[in-house]
Amino acid sequence: MPANDIVEVPAGAPAPSVVVTIHPEKCIGAGYCVEEAADVFAQDDDDGMVVLLVSNPSPERKAAVLNAARRCPVMAIEIRE
Ligand code: SF4
Repeated sequence: MPANDIVEVPAGAPAPSVVVTIHPEKCIGAGYCVEEAADVFAQDDDDGMVVLLVSNPSPERKAAVLNAARRCPVMAIEIRE
């Protein structure tokens, strides 16, 4: 999977609950983000670094995304509410 392959919510969809930004240069490949929200985060097949799948997940995924950011040991995940 290519890095930074971001999927946007289509026009007309409900307003997103959070906006997710990643900082791959900080990532150490611990994988906690994928454990919490595998529909939002992935790890690069080659180097294990975080890949953002969805930058504006649905409101139902807000708790999982916040948990992923909290668990990241290097604060590589930024959430804007
Ligand atoms: S939890 Fe943090 S360090 Fe671990 S893979 Fe995700 S972004 Fe990288």
